Amino acid sequence: MDNDHYVCTGCALLCDDIDVGLEDGKVAKVHTACRKGFAFMKGCSNPLGCMVNGKRADMDSAIREAADILRSAERPLIFGHANSSSAAQKKAIGIARKINGYIDDTSSFCQGPMVEAILEGKLKTCTLDDVRHKADVIVYWGADPANSHPRHMSRYSYFPRGKERQRGWEEDRTAICIDVRKSDTAEICGENGLYQIPVKGDVEFMDALVSALSGKIPKTSYDFDKKRLLELANILKKAKFGVIFAGLGMVYALDDREPLYRLMDKLNSVSNFHLIPMAGHYNMRGFNQNLFEETGYINRVKFSGAEILHGPEYSVVEALRQKTVDAALVIGADPLTSLPRSVVRYLEEIPLIAIDPCQTLTSVKAKVTIPCALVGVESGGTAVRMDGVEIGLKQIVETDRLSDEEVMTRISEAL
Ligand code: SF4
Repeated sequence: MDNDHYVCTGCALLCDDIDVGLEDGKVAKVHTACRKGFAFMKGCSNPLGCMVNGKRADMDSAIREAADILRSAERPLIFGHANSSSAAQKKAIGIARKINGYIDDTSSFCQGPMVEAILEGKLKTCTLDDVRHKADVIVYWGADPANSHPRHMSRYSYFPRGKERQRGWEEDRTAICIDVRKSDTAEICGENGLYQIPVKGDVEFMDALVSALSGKIPKTSYDFDKKRLLELANILKKAKFGVIFAGLGMVYALDDREPLYRLMDKLNSVSNFHLIPMAGHYNMRGFNQNLFEETGYINRVKFSGAEILHGPEYSVVEALRQKTVDAALVIGADPLTSLPRSVVRYLEEIPLIAIDPCQTLTSVKAKVTIPCALVGVESGGTAVRMDGVEIGLKQIVETDRLSDEEVMTRISEAL
């Protein structure tokens, strides 16, 4: 990132070439970003400010009340983090340890299995810069970056020129889409680029590819065209630098990671393949890495004295479904909007603290609401891109709101 450019925190691509125009101390124009990033960087607010029990409150009272809730709870939960700075995430982990709390994030029900496998060294990965400079075969599997990460294909994967890919797309790269539908990304991959499989057909497709890569006849119960499967295996085999971008379509289709390990092992015995999880929110991977460094786990943790407990029962979904927590602090997430009502209804029955720059359904329903600065616009810090690279974020405009790190520090001190 050079001095004149900023980073967009609209998604986990963290584009670092953003140019902004200011008017009256606010971001008025955003150049270079996609429409999603533009909307994000224009900012958001919570017009109500700090709230306690449905009434306006000052920051000191809100912090005090939040600390009281966490101190009095027997089994508090801290959840969210995907839209928080890395410094705030580390503070949240420290608070969870201090109060013997549960701590979990959005990866618990999305890209967690992929990030976990990478951090445990079970899947070969690379950076987006490697992809731009070297990749000649790019597989979007259950992923639609044309919509989820709008500048992914133009900035890092298919279209750009790179050191070893001077001619960029089509001439120097082959793009393949494996999906259950003809997505916008599939359209870009071209007439023969889409390998359309049935819902939950991923495991059989992986095993059929392993067969084809081993010189055997590939078979699927849904009779996928064998000739096309053999052709695909041939493309993958010839790759000098291949990458699979694993989307949620793939993650949700796998009951466990063994079929993916089989495929990656086979690919790397005949070729050179890497995998990058298509993390959505800008710093989900940062939370995973921070918690992993602290506990050896990426999510679903409960602190209990010197012990660190880990398992599905400590996931946000199970903790709320089983009603095993008795208070919650949500930071950088809006579970009341993003999770099923049957799961999150319980959040309205327990003392809830919401820390977020925007007014969300969760912040409206919370007992204590503390609006914080918008990271990457009103406060700086660092975040971790979808490929594990740490990116520095600069403050663009002044604000009187505290940063998310400062809010968490003050709650920690008040405990
Ligand atoms: Fe922002 Fe993502 Fe768009 Fe890049 S692709 S400008 S990070 S929203």
